[in-house]
Amino acid sequence: MNSLYIMNGNLRLDNNPAVEYAASHGIKVLPVIIMDARIDLSGGASRWWTEEILKSISKRTGVSDILFFMDLGEYMHRINSMIREKKIDEILIHNIPRKRYTFLVNEMIEAFGSKVSVKKFDSNNLLKLEEMENINVNFNNFNSFFQKMKKRDMGKMNESSDIPEFIDPEINQLRRNSPWKEKLKKIWNVSISKDDILNKSLKDGRKNNSRISPFISHGQIDVKDIWKESQGNEFEDEIMRNLAWREFFYLSYFKKENMDRIEVNEKFRNFPWSTRSEDFLTWKAGNTGFPLIDGAMKQLWAEGWINNRLRMLVSDFLVKCLLIRWDFGANWFMDTLVDADESVNFSSWQYISGTGGFSWPFFRIFNPVKNENDLDPEGNYIRKWIPELNNDVWKEAENIKNMRKNNLSKYSDMRKRALKIYEDFINNNLGA
Ligand SMILES: Cc1cc2nc3c(=O)[nH]c(=O)nc-3n(C[C@H](O)[C@H](O)[C@H](O)COP(=O)(O)OP(=O)(O)OC[C@H]3O[C@@H](n4cnc5c(N)ncnc54)[C@H](O)[C@@H]3O)c2cc1C
Repeated sequence: MNSLYIMNGNLRLDNNPAVEYAASHGIKVLPVIIMDARIDLSGGASRWWTEEILKSISKRTGVSDILFFMDLGEYMHRINSMIREKKIDEILIHNIPRKRYTFLVNEMIEAFGSKVSVKKFDSNNLLKLEEMENINVNFNNFNSFFQKMKKRDMGKMNESSDIPEFIDPEINQLRRNSPWKEKLKKIWNVSISKDDILNKSLKDGRKNNSRISPFISHGQIDVKDIWKESQGNEFEDEIMRNLAWREFFYLSYFKKENMDRIEVNEKFRNFPWSTRSEDFLTWKAGNTGFPLIDGAMKQLWAEGWINNRLRMLVSDFLVKCLLIRWDFGANWFMDTLVDADESVNFSSWQYISGTGGFSWPFFRIFNPVKNENDLDPEGNYIRKWIPELNNDVWKEAENIKNMRKNNLSKYSDMRKRALKIYEDFINNNLGA
């Protein structure tokens, strides 16, 4: 029996329910990834990561390549031909809990269900799709959700399973030569083992940041394995809490319509965002004049990754200090993050911006100067990412103090402006 296996979001061979199913039933699998923009919103950095993983999966399975439908807009037509040419009996697909993805699954069933069976498997989440459909969550109360997740039985840790026979697609790939390739390959080792990922998560970099998010977002490891393995670890609570946040954001993205485009909080839908596109460009390039914001944006561009605190700071700064629409920033993140995950990303942006149904209020505005003082008092991070500041002037404590003083007054003006606009907006719109 031959199966076409749509691997999206679950790029691993170990502890993967679809792979286990194929191996235990003697099924040969033809591996496919659909990167059509209607299904997958991730951009350049994340796609580079995907291609790197596929190289290692190809090596392990002995296929020359994995078939990649990228921005073609015609994957249905091509899958139809493959079913005929490769004598496919079955389509294996993961149940990613996202509206646009459920649409894909239904599209497959409708188009090919009469010719082949379509078998669905869990995706890389703590909850199953059916549970997400039925669960009632109070999005204003993360802690109660977290406590419920802690009481859940996540099952036993699985040993590595057998690998089924893979069918070589023998088709030239439709890949781009990613401009991210040269810089990212110096920084990231994409094809590390499951044990190494667990190690990173539970021990090594824990005190700073584990940086395991790209491994999770591409499904190189099952989040349930991290959850189980963290039990009894000194960082147990922190890891579980973070994984529960991920699940919480998946849930909100699944339950609320079009969260990548439309403010959940309807009242924000006609907010007077700024139209100064030059401010957006300045933010993207890391040239705002606020060193911590700029350093973070330069790190993002160089590495495809920044930590959670910096993500919060730069997103808050764009939306509230520069008053640029939240989705502009969110789309920039989708393009630049190696861990780009639309469920987490768009929910987080709405959460920070105050536009999500459950979120921080708009009037809570981070002070980038205070954060710089707290997070980087000696200026080491800033000097690393903004070489212009790595000079004698910046090394003088007095000069640093003056720069921060100036920026504090700029921030204070921006904050006042944002609060005034917000207040006028509330008085004119919300009260109506
Ligand atoms: C505006 C904004 C956009 C974001 N976009 C993304 C995104 O596209 N993809 C993505 O994976 N994360 C995103 N995050 C969440 C978070 O910043 C990253 O997951 C985290 O920085 C990854 O670092 P780590 O692997 O060292 O995390 P750890 O501290 O080791 O946490 C373990 C794992 O838990 C999950 N996690 C941790 N913190 C959060 C959080 N606050 N929310 C949701 N999940 C979390 C991640 O999968 C992470 O790898 C975003 C956060 C913000 C504020």
